[in-house]
Amino acid sequence: MSTETFEFQVEARQLLQLMIHSVYSNKDVFLRELVSNASDALDKLRLEKLWDDSLDADVSDLHIEIDVDKDARTLTVRDNGIGMSYDEVGRLIGTIANSGTAKFLQELKEAKDAAGEEGLIGQFGVGFYSGFMVADEVTLLTRRAGESRGTRWTSRGEGTYTLETVDDAPQGTSVTLHLKPADPENQLHDYTSPWKIKEIIKRYSDFITWPVRMMPEATPVAAADESSEDGEGGKAPEPETLNSMKALWARSRDEVSDDEYHELYKHIAHDWRDPLETIRLQAEGTFEYQALLFLPAHAPHDLFTRDFQRGVQLYVKRVFIMDDCEALLPPYLRFVKGVVDAADLSLNVSREILQQDRHIELMRRRLTKKVLSTVKEMKTKDQERYDTFWREFGTVLKEGLVTDPENRDAVLAVASFASTHHDTEPTTLKQYVERMKDGQEDIYYLTGESRQSIENSPHMEAFRDRGIEVLLLTDAVDEVWADAVGEYEGKKLRSVAKGRIDLGAEDEDTPDADREKRTEEYAGLLGWMKEQLDGDVKDVRLSSRLTVSPACVVSDAHDLTPALENMYRAMGQEVPRAKRILELNPDHQLVKGLNQAYKEREDRTELADTAELLHGLAVLAEGGQPKEPARFVKLMADRLERAL
Ligand code: ADP
Repeated sequence: MSTETFEFQVEARQLLQLMIHSVYSNKDVFLRELVSNASDALDKLRLEKLWDDSLDADVSDLHIEIDVDKDARTLTVRDNGIGMSYDEVGRLIGTIANSGTAKFLQELKEAKDAAGEEGLIGQFGVGFYSGFMVADEVTLLTRRAGESRGTRWTSRGEGTYTLETVDDAPQGTSVTLHLKPADPENQLHDYTSPWKIKEIIKRYSDFITWPVRMMPEATPVAAADESSEDGEGGKAPEPETLNSMKALWARSRDEVSDDEYHELYKHIAHDWRDPLETIRLQAEGTFEYQALLFLPAHAPHDLFTRDFQRGVQLYVKRVFIMDDCEALLPPYLRFVKGVVDAADLSLNVSREILQQDRHIELMRRRLTKKVLSTVKEMKTKDQERYDTFWREFGTVLKEGLVTDPENRDAVLAVASFASTHHDTEPTTLKQYVERMKDGQEDIYYLTGESRQSIENSPHMEAFRDRGIEVLLLTDAVDEVWADAVGEYEGKKLRSVAKGRIDLGAEDEDTPDADREKRTEEYAGLLGWMKEQLDGDVKDVRLSSRLTVSPACVVSDAHDLTPALENMYRAMGQEVPRAKRILELNPDHQLVKGLNQAYKEREDRTELADTAELLHGLAVLAEGGQPKEPARFVKLMADRLERAL
């Protein structure tokens, strides 16, 4: 058979370089990765056979086998699972499909030191490639179940790999690592030592549900026996099973160490880091199930992409049924990883059936509540951990305020927000309400791109002046949930950039004499400006929001804000552009002067330009863009020139 040589995809090559020159100190984990892949391959074969009985594959003794050869310095991890076709090997092993990887590599380039690098590498499961941390050449021999010929893949990890079709490959995959020369300084990391292998399997892969076997260390006699197959000279040694195969979720809490839970998490989540929280749930009764869920410590890079794989693993009576079972948790908990093992489901259950199953629905509700109550507990008992959680997943969880009215209160109870009350410490709505000033009826918030841009927005001026707290919301979802939730403990949630704002002294219901006088004074100007700006604004009125700026634009109480409009458009929905309202600050010299000039002058051409400029400035101040930027700049430049 001819051997063909291929080049690794760019990202794959970069990752490999990293592995070869790895700064990652815990190299032992390569074995965990290989065993984890083998275990997945066995799961896949068992399922495929279940669906298609005619598949020509032997599933009678599915297992993983580890062989070490001290003299040749090789280590082989073999499974008799699903295997890969020739094309699959090239696609799965020669490229990196994970969309987060490019970002990861970029961050890595920017990491200044080894510690930073190690931290980053730890964030990404590099799976199969991690073998290159300990080996200078890797060979993979595989045959897909049901196919007659196999494929051999070989690489030294340096830019190219070779592929070759082979006739006599056993079903499944074996990965052989040609280990780097022994380090006499570091006997602890001798991967030809059966003791070392046992230790690593016990530590990282004990829960794997398939047996991981290894031959006891070959004695010289046994080695000589290899040629005479049926070994008259003595009994062939029995392979030893290294893992206990016990499903952690079926064992009681005190039988399992935190480390064991963490290793299961890493296997399931393809994460190299410990989870933030482990959640156990055992449901008894008519519909029995056990769940072991994990809150990761870091949000994955693709959490907000459309094809993010959500869901937990589903088992039925210890037998793996499917990955990413999305029916078991709502989309806003898509970051939760784990296992759910149900006693009374059919092994043939499909995703479609699960979506409609009443028991599954009940499970989802219970699991959702359990996750939320765990977060709440974390918040009361371990603020630091909660802070990490909220930083990583708060944005996703807030989606639940919109999509899951049943648990809205539970989500609100654990939600926290940046606020003008404190520069760095976020607040809950409860704390906000406790701090509300006498006479303050509403909970105020403002949305925007960043804390800084919100704080500098003209809408904030009167609030700052009067020391009224405002929530500073910067996530796209914030406007949507604030709208959907509407109120908290009887207090309305109000955007300071929407509708009329009347802060006590100028309550609409009791207009004072001053206010009336002013309105009269400005009535002419306001009406005229509205005409001038017709098409751009729906109204021009006096503001009680402003103390420093001359003008600002606000949305009508029930209109979409520009940010929301943009969001809907980004999602491909047609929404009409809502006209805004221009508010003027009657205490500002520019506005006063404009009013004066309006009253005195016959020819108002100049003033029309001023009105347009004022509107443009208000739009700019909230981070928007004047309708015709070039025209705005020209008008502005003319004015400045004349002012010289
Ligand atoms: P990951 O396991 O995170 O997907 P890997 O680089 O470890 O990344 O593996 C890439 C893919 O190669 C796997 O998703 C799987 O499809 C395939 N693969 C790896 N090892 C095996 C194996 N032992 N048997 C069958 N397929 C495998």
